[in-house]
Amino acid sequence: MTTSKANTNTIDRDQESDRIGGQGVLDATELAARVSAGHRLTATEALAVLGTPDEATFALIAAAGTLRRKHFGNSVKVNYLVNLKSGLCPEDCTYCSQRLGSKAEILKYTWLKPEEAVRQAGLGVAGGASRVCMVASGKGPTDRDVDRVATMVEQLKDENPQIEVCACLGILKDGQADRLKAAGVDAYNHNLNTAESLYPEICSTHTFAERVDTVGQAKDAGLSPCSGLIVGMGESLEQLVEAVFALRDLDADSIPVNFLMPFDGTPLAGTWNLTPMACLRILALVRLACPATELRMAAGREIHLRSLQSTALAVANSLFLGDYLTSEGQDARRDLEMISDAGYVVLGREDIDPAQLAARLRHRADEAPAQPEAPGCGSGCGSACGSATQGCGPAGGHGEPVLRRRGAGTPESPNA
Ligand code: SF4
Repeated sequence: MTTSKANTNTIDRDQESDRIGGQGVLDATELAARVSAGHRLTATEALAVLGTPDEATFALIAAAGTLRRKHFGNSVKVNYLVNLKSGLCPEDCTYCSQRLGSKAEILKYTWLKPEEAVRQAGLGVAGGASRVCMVASGKGPTDRDVDRVATMVEQLKDENPQIEVCACLGILKDGQADRLKAAGVDAYNHNLNTAESLYPEICSTHTFAERVDTVGQAKDAGLSPCSGLIVGMGESLEQLVEAVFALRDLDADSIPVNFLMPFDGTPLAGTWNLTPMACLRILALVRLACPATELRMAAGREIHLRSLQSTALAVANSLFLGDYLTSEGQDARRDLEMISDAGYVVLGREDIDPAQLAARLRHRADEAPAQPEAPGCGSGCGSACGSATQGCGPAGGHGEPVLRRRGAGTPESPNA
């Protein structure tokens, strides 16, 4: 019999099988109570979480949700993405619409001017965002790129000193994390994305180890590390546990969980491996593995969680408002209404019902000049999606990623 070790995935399956009920049926309430008391989730328990039957999944969410309430109360952290540079990436990440050789009809543009980046960010701030995530495609930044971002951050912070800025610029070279920190950047995002054992199938142009190294550099420079996942890429349940435990070992402050958006024109087009219930179990697993860490339900929540998005807030305490880097998200007003309907408040905006924030955005949108109706839209979904491509946006529930045609890189207002 092996001994379970706190810092490894080594497991004592006999002993743990007893703990989770002998038949592999999880006592989620008991497990959450032990985690709350300091227990470190084991691999056997993690697999039992993922193996929870659909009919027991809401009970799992309720149990894991006690940890979310303990550490984050009823607040939801709202984050807002600004894509500073889109497409044209030399890397070959199979899931990515911006990859080398991608045929996805995304917006492609080089660096936004600082004033435009700050304007875009301000629209998210008006929607309640307390963190702005400034993202650029590419393997990693040049020193000149770091200077560009530093200028943007200085301008953004002059106008919004209370806002956290997270940079997401790829793999960092020596000294770049320190320069970002000195420029006022608060956090750095670099996702591990998936298990190390699957990584060579997902990307051939950089390694899992390089990703781990960049998160370490950010941390060493005093930046708050943010690192997460893309689930639904064909990983096994064991690989999912491997990836979540790797994130736990990184000790990131925030973990975004993205649900694969299988864009046409990428190698993973047509890959639909997730159900709403499976998405809930994955989020519950991350909450149980990392009980006090910010857990963000990120890109793809609309098309994978569908009507269970607000249920997911019982374990996730963070989301992106509105659109994603190359695709449309749920209408920002619906995001805020969803937060309000489920009884949560927006972190940093506890003074106001999120539905009122949504109403202010609605008011602003009503005052804006009318946009021509998007071709192919008109399904009556009410999401104001403005989609110029594959029909209605995710809020319409059609289940396909819809390419972004508004916000940064376009003359249209962003969805914020
Ligand atoms: S994930 Fe980043 S590095 Fe990979 S192809 Fe997309 S933009 Fe490039």
